[in-house]
Amino acid sequence: MIRKTRLFTPGPTPLLPAAQFAMAAADIHHRTPEFRALYLRVLDQLKTFVGTKNDVLLLASSGTGAMEASVSNLTSPGDRVLVLSAGKFGERWEALAKAFGCSVDVVKVPYGQTFSLDEVRKALKTETRAVFMQATESSTGVRHDVQGVAALLKTANSNSLLVVDAITGLGTTHFDVDTWGVDIMIGGSQKAVMIPPGLSYLSVSDRAWQAMESSRNPRYYFDLRKERKNAKNGESAYTPAVALIAALGAALDYIAAQGGGDLAVGRKALVDNAETCAAMTRAAVEALGLKLFAPDAPAAAATAVLPPDGVDSGVVVKELKSRFAAVITNGQGEMKGQIFRIAHIGFFDYMDTIAIVGALEQVAASSLKLPGFEFGKALAVAQKAYVERTAKPASEKLEAVGAR
Ligand SMILES: *Cc1c(COP(=O)(O)O)cnc(C)c1O
Repeated sequence: MIRKTRLFTPGPTPLLPAAQFAMAAADIHHRTPEFRALYLRVLDQLKTFVGTKNDVLLLASSGTGAMEASVSNLTSPGDRVLVLSAGKFGERWEALAKAFGCSVDVVKVPYGQTFSLDEVRKALKTETRAVFMQATESSTGVRHDVQGVAALLKTANSNSLLVVDAITGLGTTHFDVDTWGVDIMIGGSQKAVMIPPGLSYLSVSDRAWQAMESSRNPRYYFDLRKERKNAKNGESAYTPAVALIAALGAALDYIAAQGGGDLAVGRKALVDNAETCAAMTRAAVEALGLKLFAPDAPAAAATAVLPPDGVDSGVVVKELKSRFAAVITNGQGEMKGQIFRIAHIGFFDYMDTIAIVGALEQVAASSLKLPGFEFGKALAVAQKAYVERTAKPASEKLEAVGAR
């Protein structure tokens, strides 16, 4: 059979063709009215995509750049901060905060789990300047309770800022940034917005802008106040990633089109899509007799799966690649060999999900020696999960027909 390469990875994710065309055509200079119009439009669309009235800024960096900007702009050396850590990306917050001289408290739970709000409450101190967390921990496939932590910060009478790495949370989880009170919400281009790596974006609350006035950590390229000033005029402080910004505009147009022209509706559809693909995948791997790595709080961004006892997860990764050109990810760092991860964030749909489940059945048949294995079992439950997740009450169906 010929092999058609497909990414099933939680970043970079598959590219939207319309965004690729927009990139190729982005032969414009950034200090021109054409670019200013594009930049202002994309920043405005991003606000709707994040779901906030706060300022949203774009940076020419991978997601970690916006994470670093949050630390450097909001903290001073010696500040006490709290990191909620449950995987590789939680550990990144810890390392970043330490690099900028913060006194770091950490709530740490084993990989595959999420923290309880009680543990967070106990670790919160009156002087905690900021709480740093992930919305979804891509390294383990876990979803954290952003709403719960935000509510806790309000009731704990804390002045702490809440900074959320939603790099794989955006587009896979429903958020209400402003109502909950998330001060900084971070996204990255190679995740839900279906374009290549190279851009990060973040929303910044009024409270966070005020906090920046008194923070003393050094910053230059990632000076958010400078970016905000320039962004108001449709410019960036330094040369922007013009082609990626054009691609982002096309991708956000596509997401809006999925919502009948309304980007907020399209964003909801994108999240529901990821949830459906994830539910299909979870049902399928369990029907195969495999165990989920994060059964209690699974993220819709990616599903992490334990291989059968005594089997290296790399076997599944390698065989999917060599036989079907399907690229999934192994565990990160010391998790290598222990889990494999299948992504649902961004440009994945029903067809992709059925395809990866079918290919996984082939790998199971040839290499996994699972008791009671039969072709079609995983596909059947994936089909049923699809029907359950997408079935609409009869009244809604009638409305949809009427609307046409
Ligand atoms: C991808 C990702 C990041 C950012 O990584 P970069 O390589 O810097 O883009 C951060 N946090 C999470 C949860 C991610 O999935």
